[in-house]
Amino acid sequence: MENWKKAYFCNMVASISRTTEILKRNNVTVTDIRRQVIALLLEPGRALTQKEIEIALEEMSGSVDRVTLYRTIKVLLKHEVIHKITIDEQTIKYKLAEVHKKSDHPHFHCASCDKLVCMPQIQIEQNILPDGYLMQSSNLVIEGVCAICNTKSKHKK
Ligand SMILES: [Zn+2]
Ligand SMILES: [Zn+2]
Repeated sequence: MENWKKAYFCNMVASISRTTEILKRNNVTVTDIRRQVIALLLEPGRALTQKEIEIALEEMSGSVDRVTLYRTIKVLLKHEVIHKITIDEQTIKYKLAEVHKKSDHPHFHCASCDKLVCMPQIQIEQNILPDGYLMQSSNLVIEGVCAICNTKSKHKK
């Protein structure tokens, strides 16, 4: 079993109160699948595709209703519990929102450990565009190597 899945199974047991609290704090009705999806994303920096969430839930409970999962993700997005991050045309990942609710900030993707980190300190605003241009949305992903992986690779040399 992959490491993140192992961590998830441990998290699932420890995190019932945490996932319930996150849902309540965001005024979302608590259901099992909503709690399970959040439990999957509790680890800081973890972002998963819908498919990855589906596979993990399947391994845990045997079967997952795709429509229910799709709706669950929609509800969590609407209440800004999770961020939707477009990596490329084929890959859309979901990440637990932190203190910043809005998801219009850039994200940093570590090519080494696959971590996705919110970068709310970088603001993409209308006024950085040339005169007359109108911003509708932005999906900026900065590719690179995170501090932890960067240190590790330096030690190897
Ligand atoms: Zn990394
Ligand atoms: Zn974010």
